[in-house]
Amino acid sequence: MKYSRIADAYKKIEATTKRLEMTDYLVELLKQTPKDLIDKVVYLTQGKLYPDFIGIEIGIAEKLAIRAVAKATGHSEKEIEEDLTKTGDLGKTAQNFSKEKAQAQLFRELLTVQKVYGDLDKMAKSTGAGSVDQKINLLAGLLANATPNEAKFIVRAVTGQLRLGIADMTVLDALAIAYGGGKEARKDVERAYNISSDLGMVAKTVVERGIEGLRRFEVSLGDPIRPMLAERLGSPQEILEKLGGKCIAEFKYDGERIQAHKQGDQVTLFSRRLENITDQYPDAVDLFKNYVKAKDAIVEAECVAVDPDTGEMRPFQELMHRRRKYGIKKAMEEYPVSLFIFDALYIDGEDLTLKAYPVRHKQLEKIIKQNDHVKVAEYLITDNVDELERFFEKAVESGCEGLICKSIAEDAAYQAGARGWLWIKYKRDYKSEMTDTVDLVVVGAFHGRGKRAGTYGALLLATYDPDEDSFKTVTKCGTGFTDEELNKLPEMMKKHRIPHRHARVKSTLKADVWFEPAVVVETMGAEITLSPIHTCAVNVIRKGAGLAIRFPRFTGNYRLDKSAEDATTVNEIAQMYRNQLKTLAE
Ligand code: ATP
Repeated sequence: MKYSRIADAYKKIEATTKRLEMTDYLVELLKQTPKDLIDKVVYLTQGKLYPDFIGIEIGIAEKLAIRAVAKATGHSEKEIEEDLTKTGDLGKTAQNFSKEKAQAQLFRELLTVQKVYGDLDKMAKSTGAGSVDQKINLLAGLLANATPNEAKFIVRAVTGQLRLGIADMTVLDALAIAYGGGKEARKDVERAYNISSDLGMVAKTVVERGIEGLRRFEVSLGDPIRPMLAERLGSPQEILEKLGGKCIAEFKYDGERIQAHKQGDQVTLFSRRLENITDQYPDAVDLFKNYVKAKDAIVEAECVAVDPDTGEMRPFQELMHRRRKYGIKKAMEEYPVSLFIFDALYIDGEDLTLKAYPVRHKQLEKIIKQNDHVKVAEYLITDNVDELERFFEKAVESGCEGLICKSIAEDAAYQAGARGWLWIKYKRDYKSEMTDTVDLVVVGAFHGRGKRAGTYGALLLATYDPDEDSFKTVTKCGTGFTDEELNKLPEMMKKHRIPHRHARVKSTLKADVWFEPAVVVETMGAEITLSPIHTCAVNVIRKGAGLAIRFPRFTGNYRLDKSAEDATTVNEIAQMYRNQLKTLAE
């Protein structure tokens, strides 16, 4: 397959702001792709070579890429850099310089997808002495044979700046249409993705074994399952009603979510974002190895920092000291952890994800050998409002955030990758005004004036709408940043900058600068109000009005552990608005 097919498709995708059009171009590309390349083409369209959890990135520093462009085009690095300051995009610069060369070189070698993927893979895996030269040579080799359009996308891919904005969900739509027989296949395609987190493998399965093959898809050890998430409500009454009068309530521990895959003595840990974090927690690895009694298992736990002297739970922030590459042994002593296990998704050959929660919970209790550092999450099965409230108070008193109340219905399966009403969180601070923080996505910015000239005066922040897979604005936030943070912002956001509003962002405001939705900031507000401007929850509370956060303030926390799709949702904001009204009326 010619690489130009991919590059041509990218060109069209890049030019559109319409999601449906984007999907159409992708469908066209996937249909043109031979079976044995489908997974590679899928990874490439997302600027990747493998699924994220494998942890291999193309990632080449801009400096090296400049050297390769210079080498391939016969220009000096200085010339390339000068052009780069004008374009702000090394891909564009590479395109400009290969344009010049186009007439001169008639006998270039045709680039195939196999060749491009293979060389990118070599670049990604090349380490140690001589790797810098090897990377430059490989890249320069590709660029020397590339058309200008191909050069643009190759350079963007290797520098991690492809930014086509093709979300996972768009790929799933395209696969369903191209190979599943139409949109109806979307459910099966999505489930396979949700339990494997590997778009390439899903693509390969549907292409090779059709929709039937997808339906037989099961969880497998080593492939992380996308996490099930909770909705929220503000009172035990509402929660019990929603869950059919009875539920299993569990402490909501304030730590880091870990999905452990145990295969004999081999344990792999995945974060909430499905990154492999095994090396970060050798102590947790040992705990899973020694106290999960099944030979093979996939279990989920909240990993909580505990006081080494008292064993009491410590706040989430302390766990951040464990996010490091070096000095792990010392951090382990200073910030030991305990595990509170709350789900079992696979045990000794059996996929449990479609089993009801009570069944999974029973299985879980059977395989966990509890001790000081490994416990099944504390729980209570109840149909009583007062009992639930008291259990909630107990959770808060023990240092938890509140409760997660779970459905005990027969069809309460593990909803991988979804935020649904089978799990409902009840957190401590909903009872007052907006005292809870929200996690919002930076989608745009406005130029600053006066003291803030040269940087941003405010950021345009958005909530996530999972139904539409889009981002809806909810506030403009310019407070809470230190001067130093402000000065760093333009540089920090540079790699996410795009020339127009992102196709998945819905905004009536015109920002001065637009970003792809990627960075999540924790924000605190005074209250939520109806808004004629913002697009969050439009028509949900009142016809024609959206919701906005008033007096927002950045708390100083970049939620690096969250992707844009993990941001607070429009439904959560609407629910917070309703709760807030209730409180005021009380
Ligand atoms: P928040 O910012 O409120 O933690 P979130 O978006 O990170 O929200 P939610 O879906 O709101 O995640 O809450 C579920 C999270 O709570 C899980 O991801 C998990 O990390 C944590 N948690 C703690 N205890 C439990 C439990 N017993 N069962 C399920 N999840 C739990």
